[in-house]
Amino acid sequence: DAARPALVLTGPVMENVVERQLAARFNLIPLDQLDAARAPAVRAIATKGKVKVDDALLARLPKVEIVANFGVGYDTVDAAAAAARGVVVTNTPDVLNEEVADLTLGLLLATVREIPQADRFVRAGGWARSAFPLGPTLRGRTVGLIGMGRIGQAIAKRLDAFSVPVVYHSRRAQPSVPYRHYGDLLAMARDVDVIVVIVPGGPATRHMVDAAVLEALGPDGILINVARGTVVDEAALLKALQDRTILSAGLDVFQNEPHVPEGFFALDNVVLLPHVGSATHHTRGAMGQLVVDNLISWFDGKGPITPVAETPWPRG
Ligand code: NDP
Repeated sequence: DAARPALVLTGPVMENVVERQLAARFNLIPLDQLDAARAPAVRAIATKGKVKVDDALLARLPKVEIVANFGVGYDTVDAAAAAARGVVVTNTPDVLNEEVADLTLGLLLATVREIPQADRFVRAGGWARSAFPLGPTLRGRTVGLIGMGRIGQAIAKRLDAFSVPVVYHSRRAQPSVPYRHYGDLLAMARDVDVIVVIVPGGPATRHMVDAAVLEALGPDGILINVARGTVVDEAALLKALQDRTILSAGLDVFQNEPHVPEGFFALDNVVLLPHVGSATHHTRGAMGQLVVDNLISWFDGKGPITPVAETPWPRG
């Protein structure tokens, strides 16, 4: 149907409902079928996950107007290059805040109270021989968030309910929250017992949590990363866990997903999750719907619903 705009899908990864709704409105072109004959007609891209939407891809698509990213984190989209070409980029903020915050608290509790280890203990018949050894606690700890944005605030609200003091590091203090702000990450790492990482990925935050931060966190310290694998120096973290220079870690994200360094598998002081922060039917459905709604709003001439910060679009 020549009347429908052509849309490139970068992977077969969208929820069925999304693909169905998009198919009704667009001519869908899987990325691996994008050739010189089809490229000139492409007006939109819907993307998720690891495939890079970089300047080289945009350069092949002279008529592209919008890149709709499935996920709030859009570190795989070169949004600055898109902006320079006048291409709008949208993401899926807010609809996943509560889900990701739930998972973060689950991962924190699993890590500090050693819940997966206790489950393995029961399954292996260990309980018949002895009680599970006493372990660490959340009591008396202060949690330092790296990032106090949409999801960080949902995490902090849950920590309030757990009667755990919260502080945070970000570039600018967030005037709407009551927690102490640290402009200096190392200073925060020295003062807290738990760090929860919930900043965007990309070059600006690459290896923010490095050997020096882990050392400042100290031997009783716990690191939870639900942001992006790139934010943590994975080799330094593995070493800190092996040498017990920090207590433990809970990780939902890794530098080179789905590859998890095997060194982690041998350790009993790390909880490993396969990037499931938003991975429920409910929330993935809401994210998919926002991808569709952004694309339809754009092609109805009503503008993007949730443009990213780099996109030069009037907001009010
Ligand atoms: P927001 O943009 O609302 O918040 C980002 C926070 O990070 C802000 O407090 C911001 O403050 C801070 N920040 C950004 N850049 C830096 C920097 N260079 N140094 C220090 N602080 C920085 O994002 P969301 O809360 O909506 O999402 C955060 C991230 O969580 C996403 O980008 C995504 O990568 C990740 N995520 C992971 C999921 C999972 O499945 N594990 C699911 C959903 C999201 P300031 O600008 O003042 O520095």
